[in-house]
Amino acid sequence: MSHQKTIRRPVSCGGIGLHTGKAVELTLLPAPPGSGITFERADLPGSPVIPARPEYVADVHYATTLARGGVEVRTIEHLMAALSGLGVDNLRVRLTGPEVPILDGSAAPFVALLRAAGIRRYLLPKAPIRVQRPITVRAGDRWIAVEPAPRLVVEYAMTFAHPKFPAQRIALTVNRETFVREVAPCRTFGFLRDVRYLWSQGLALGGSLENAVVIGEEGVLNEGLRFEDEMIRHKVLDLIGDLYLLGRPVQGKVTAHGAGHALHSQLAREILRQHRAAEVAAGATEPSWAPPLLTPEPVPTAAL
Ligand SMILES: [Zn+2]
Repeated sequence: MSHQKTIRRPVSCGGIGLHTGKAVELTLLPAPPGSGITFERADLPGSPVIPARPEYVADVHYATTLARGGVEVRTIEHLMAALSGLGVDNLRVRLTGPEVPILDGSAAPFVALLRAAGIRRYLLPKAPIRVQRPITVRAGDRWIAVEPAPRLVVEYAMTFAHPKFPAQRIALTVNRETFVREVAPCRTFGFLRDVRYLWSQGLALGGSLENAVVIGEEGVLNEGLRFEDEMIRHKVLDLIGDLYLLGRPVQGKVTAHGAGHALHSQLAREILRQHRAAEVAAGATEPSWAPPLLTPEPVPTAAL
């Protein structure tokens, strides 16, 4: 049986947001068992908190954004992937801005930070979500599916409409070792042809060769790739991060074709729906998947 985990001591790092380009300080703090992963905006009055849960996913364009009560936290997926990979269930993520720092564009710096903090095991067991029946979510010719399997297996394929990188495909069993070695170091990527559009949308304002693989017409503009198929591995990283909004490990085989944050989060919601339905059918009076403990929302006081 595996146990719920948090970190042993607080750890911090600074960086900039990929999309906002804003400087931000990130602090990871230990959290009690059953509290889940929560984000705190320490720069705002009352330090509002948003739980990392599928129901708070507010935007899925080029990153996963959580929002609650008009407060948002952007680009959570690489940190969420690192938490999933290392099996951290309970954590407070304190931010001094609206976006998680992009660091080098991968999950490796978050893995290093979590390891520096040390992992603490609680006595409370962790309960994985076992996929019971196949689920498929589609958007045009893009789709993502999950089927029952004894562990998390991911098969991901993408076509890129680029002569040097026409298509990539990967299949792997996800566990701590494969995540840290094969997935965590893989950086976010973008095509030079899209940069002007992204900027016009106020996106990727903090993007550079320091924190993203950039692909021009001739090929990669960076010094090199960390893996020949780094891009598809990064898609797996994003998927692992988005699925971890469920707050529990998923046992199932996920197959994705041309998916992204939108389909990843839709799949997470469908898995949760199926899981809750199965619990009700089994006669559960209380969902095993209880909402995390929240600090009370600040109550607006009437002007006197
Ligand atoms: Zn990503």
